[in-house]
Amino acid sequence: MDSFDLIRKFQSTLPLVRKWIDDVLDGHKDQATPIVNLGFPRLQQVFPSELLEKARVIVVSGKVPFPPLSRMGLPELSQMENMPMSGITYKDTFFINHAHQSESLHFHELVHVVQWEKLGVDNFLLAYGVGLMQFGYRDSPLEQMAYSLQERFDAKNLPHGIVEFIRQKTDAIWNSIAPLFEKV
Ligand SMILES: [Zn+2]
Repeated sequence: MDSFDLIRKFQSTLPLVRKWIDDVLDGHKDQATPIVNLGFPRLQQVFPSELLEKARVIVVSGKVPFPPLSRMGLPELSQMENMPMSGITYKDTFFINHAHQSESLHFHELVHVVQWEKLGVDNFLLAYGVGLMQFGYRDSPLEQMAYSLQERFDAKNLPHGIVEFIRQKTDAIWNSIAPLFEKV
């Protein structure tokens, strides 16, 4: 199977993934806490309050929920299903394992919230999926951005205007992969 077939297959799986995400968020909505309520001081310095009021976290004791991609017809991405993950973001809400509730991980997931907001659901999923297929988890462009900004957050060396910075980088990632979807 070439990569265009895989992208086409991924596109056809989108409605299932979208539905799965909505069901998971709906099923946990009573446990979702606005980030602003957690009182992390540095998050309040670097992110605007509207974002911290809108974004939510759900703390889980076991694995963070991940879509059953092999059951949805995408066994190519099934290695992600079994990967131990400390956090994962769906739209404006992220799940964090209770052992990993650091301000730094919350920062990382908030980068993803801004990416989701910038791209919208379908384009986020497409960009994330293509990045995984091309580069693997850690080096996929949306993760790479979140990890490198997290390192700069930890080093207290963030660029100014972080939300605009993330939006511009996210746009650039989308522009680099959008031609792929025109060919399929
Ligand atoms: Zn991440």
